[in-house]
Formats: sequence, C-alpha cells, structure tokens
Amino acid sequence: MKSPLRLVSELIPLSRGESTGRELYELIKELFPICRSITGEGLRSTLRILQKHIPLTLEEIPTGTPAFDWTVPKEWNIRDAYIKNSSGERIVDFQKSNLCVLNYSIPVNRKISLDELRAHLFTLPEQPEAIPYRTSYYREAWGFCLPHRLLESLAPGEYQVQIDSTLAAGHLSYGELLLPGESDEEILISAHACHPSLANDNLSGVAVAAFLARSLADVHRRYSYRFLFLPGTIGSIVWLSRNQQSASRISHGLVLACIWHVLKHLGSQNVRDFSPYGYDERQYCSPGFNLSVGCLSRTPHGQFPEYHTSEDNLDFVRPDALADSCACVLSILAALEENQTYRNRNPMCEPQLGRRGLYRQLGGLRDAGQLEMAMLWLLNLSDETHSVIDIAERSNLPFDCLRTAAATLRENGLLEAVVPRTMKSDVSLDSIAGNRR
Ligand SMILES: [Zn+2]
Repeated sequence: MKSPLRLVSELIPLSRGESTGRELYELIKELFPICRSITGEGLRSTLRILQKHIPLTLEEIPTGTPAFDWTVPKEWNIRDAYIKNSSGERIVDFQKSNLCVLNYSIPVNRKISLDELRAHLFTLPEQPEAIPYRTSYYREAWGFCLPHRLLESLAPGEYQVQIDSTLAAGHLSYGELLLPGESDEEILISAHACHPSLANDNLSGVAVAAFLARSLADVHRRYSYRFLFLPGTIGSIVWLSRNQQSASRISHGLVLACIWHVLKHLGSQNVRDFSPYGYDERQYCSPGFNLSVGCLSRTPHGQFPEYHTSEDNLDFVRPDALADSCACVLSILAALEENQTYRNRNPMCEPQLGRRGLYRQLGGLRDAGQLEMAMLWLLNLSDETHSVIDIAERSNLPFDCLRTAAATLRENGLLEAVVPRTMKSDVSLDSIAGNRR
C-alpha cells in the first residue's frame, strides 16, 4: 500500500529548521544583484532562476496589450549607467549599486552642469548614507539616486552622465504555477518580483513563496494552490485581466480572518485593516474581483527605515526570520487545509465526558484546562454550520488545540465530520481523515 502523503501541518516543524533559513537566504543572495524592473531581462532571469527550484511557467505578454484601464508598457533593459566628475571618476556607478539609476530611465549620454543635473538627482536627506529606490514607469524620465552625503560634496562644474538603457517594444514577464488539489477551489500566493537589489521588500517574499511552492508540491492538498511571481501592480492587473475565470476559483489568498486568527496565536504579529495603498492585494481586492486576499508582512511597507533604500540589503534579512515566516504561512495554510465542520452526535445537553475519561475527575476547580475548554466549545458549536476556524475565533483558542480536541471527540464517537460547504461535495472526508493517520 502507498504510504499516505504528509499533511501541510507536518511541514510546520520541518520548516523551522536551520536548513530552511539557510536555503532561503542562499536564494535571496543569488537573486540580490540582479537589476529587476516591471519588465525586462532582470525580471525574466529572476523567474528563470526560480524555475531551477519549482516548475514555474513563464508568460510573456507583449507591449501594448490592454489590461483593463492599463496597457503593458515598453520593455526596459539597462546595461550600465554612471555620473563622471571632471577628472573622469565614476562618482555614481550602476556597477556598484543598481539602485543608483531611476528605474525605467530613458537613455542619456551628455555633459551637464551640476545645476541642471540636480533636477535629476534623488536623495534622502534624513538618511544621508542611503541610496533611495525610485522608479518612473509611466512617465519617461531619467535620473540618478545617491546618498545625500555625496550630493552635498559635489563641486560645481560639468559632469558626464550616461545611462545605457533601452525602452522598446518587448514583453512583460510573469511566472505562474498551479498545484492542483482535491478541490478546484484555489489558494493564491502572490509575490512581486520587480524590485532591483532590495532584500526584504520583494526578495524575501519571492524566496518564501518559492519555498512554499516546493514544499506543498508533495503533501496532501484539499485546496489547489496558485503561485504568481509578477511585477507589482501592472503584473497582477495583467494576470487578472487574462484570468477572470480562474480568479473566480480563488477562495483564499491568505484570508484576512484566518491570518488574524493564526497570527494572534503566533504571538508577535498583528493584523491591520485592508488599505488601498499596499501591495497587489489592492488589485485582487478591487470591487470587480473582491477576492479574499490579505497581505502578510513581517513589518509593513514604509514602516521600517530601510524600506526602499540601499539599507534593505543582505544584512537586513535574517535566515531565522525567513524560516519563521515560512512556518507562519504554513500554519495559516494548515488551518485552511485541515479546517472541518462537525456535527455533535450527542446534541441533547452535554455528553458525560468524565465517564469517557475526557474530563478531569476532580470537580470544583476554578478553570478548565485549555483542551477541556476546546472540547466544550466544539461540542457547543458543532451544529454543522460552524467550522473549527469559526470556533477558534469565537472561543479565542488556538486552532491546533481545537483540532486536537476534535480528534479526541471524534475517536470517542461524539463528533462526526460533515462536508464543508466551501469544498466540493464529492470530496471524501474519510479519505482525508485516513490521510491524517
Ligand atoms: Zn516595494
């Protein structure tokens, strides 16, 4: 007999291991030097590197393709860029940091006075050593980003500026992977992959998503999983415009309510309300789609000083935090995968738990233990309409504890599983239960 596949929950302790953190960090290190953008070779080669780890399909959408109110822009590629001073030294050098070019700069090659150059320079006076990350995707422009300290030291005179880039008809690339499950209801995991050398904002999400795609490939899946690696905003808009049918099958994309629940019991995280100024959840949650997609961040964008600067580098991300984020997402997925709705088989008053050895023998204690509380909540709310996640939210008990209590009650014949409303009715619950052992 074939041994049953592992459950998603069994991946959680494995993902916490040191090797996960190291593996994620190595991938980030490999991707870090690449100059990515919303189109171009940097994005494409990033997706090709991911293909070494997961069987990602690459899609190439031609420039000019309409996507709702947007149009796929020209493809941008860059080979070199610099500002040279009068002695011919590269004082700003793309070869040293790809953040130093305004992302999507049009080509330029000229001598220019410092006064004229200033209008094309971007700095962060409040973080004078950091290079800011700036883009100009939809308005043709050129510019350089540099430490404020360097700007202050520039002598008046002439500078040679060169940006060896091309902005021409081409393609927008994105990567997609579907892992089919028992149900065609989908869980969407989407990561933006359009930022150049920035480690936390973009590469940590890319690496964690790739790790999840690989880990989930050989476990038992009730849900189908769709992974998208795409350029922010335009990528998700293009994907949604081409996949309205598939989008309707997405029932969770890190569902906010469930994130909230799992996160609450994981400790350090907190849940914020949706804001229309965030990442691609803005597109997935636009009124025409309104998918249940939340955004999971260790620290939200814009709220750490390294955000969108050269300080979001390889020293800023830590292997243990990366592994922790994997475990956190897996906990959310495990709750969705292993969620279940039960029927109380003894609905007329409470069953006598003590007689079955399920309740402490001593009466009159002030509090019941957590597991006993979990059993009481399950018995009380298992009326075929409340799932274990619903009961977790109502009772404020961890999902894991309720799952353990439910298994005990089930073994004692006090609960029986009913087909969850959200899953296809032809899914055999017993086959799922069988896989749990
Ligand atoms: Zn960003």
